Amino acid sequence: MNVLHVDPARCEGHGKCYRVAPDHFRAVDDHGHAEAVGTRVDPQDRATVAKGDFAIKACPEEALSWQSA
Ligand code: SF4
Repeated sequence: MNVLHVDPARCEGHGKCYRVAPDHFRAVDDHGHAEAVGTRVDPQDRATVAKGDFAIKACPEEALSWQSA
């Protein structure tokens, strides 16, 4: 299983991740910084993986990635 991760050192609070993938990210403060919800994703679940990949590409700070869980 994999999980999406936010690098807090890179996140600048643009908010694109939780707008395109609210199942996986949420805002954590008034500045729009994000954290991952921690939803575990089966790599075979192509639709969910594609949604996560879309969020990763949407982040202008390259703060998002998949990690093993
Ligand atoms: S899109 Fe990137 S920079 Fe913007 S809130 Fe999400 S992780 Fe942070």
